Amino acid sequence: PSLHSQRHQFVVDFVRKNKPNKVADLGCGECRLLKRLKFQRNIELLVGVDIDGAKIKKKMQGLAPLSTDYLQPTYDQLHIDLYQGSVTQRDARLRGFDLVTNIELIEHLTLPDLELFSSVVFGYMRPASVIVSTPNSEFNKLLPGLTGFRHSDHKFEWNRSEFRSWALQVCLDYGYEAEFTGVGEAPQEQQESVGFCSQIAVFQCFNVLPDRDEEEVFSYTLVYSVNYPTLR
Ligand code: SAM
Repeated sequence: PSLHSQRHQFVVDFVRKNKPNKVADLGCGECRLLKRLKFQRNIELLVGVDIDGAKIKKKMQGLAPLSTDYLQPTYDQLHIDLYQGSVTQRDARLRGFDLVTNIELIEHLTLPDLELFSSVVFGYMRPASVIVSTPNSEFNKLLPGLTGFRHSDHKFEWNRSEFRSWALQVCLDYGYEAEFTGVGEAPQEQQESVGFCSQIAVFQCFNVLPDRDEEEVFSYTLVYSVNYPTLR
């Protein structure tokens, strides 16, 4: 499977194991991860957010129920919402989730925006779990013909220690703990020295209770919303 698919599979496996009810994918792009997650029956609310509304709209119809879903409903409950919005801005509708995923998103943010991202996701949304994946720059030397970053829109690419120190600071600032892993393996003899192609941190919150004094802000624009036909 492609690296892209391996990153999404990592999230699917996490969902199978941890059974979150409310899941949001930030930087959802063309909704490919969401299309895989909608088959996980424990999920009752599935939300995608991307700054690029046109990108969301391109393939979002693929999230619609099929005629068989109407003829023979198999869901207890599933609602899907897609928003155009930036992860640097707060929106009250994104609070109280069980899982928020950020797959190959943070490296597209400037460092000031990354600070805002941390305060929005970990400080304001305060989901129970957060998954962040980003390129591991140590792996780049194994990618043939690559000079510079893997993508022209990347604002940075971190090595394992830079990613770790960012994640551990987030944990201290917002009351989370993190575990580190990745997908995309190097040849056996180099695995240890370069690490995974995509590095992943899985964060768990100590205390999911949001700050009660926060004002209710709605800065995202709803672009798609659907209720799946249910069994009952
Ligand atoms: N997560 C998807 C995946 O795994 O295929 C897409 C990853 S793509 C490399 C990065 C995505 O982040 C793009 O769709 C881009 O529009 C989005 N993005 C960049 N900056 C953003 C921001 N400030 N807020 C929300 N989305 C953003």
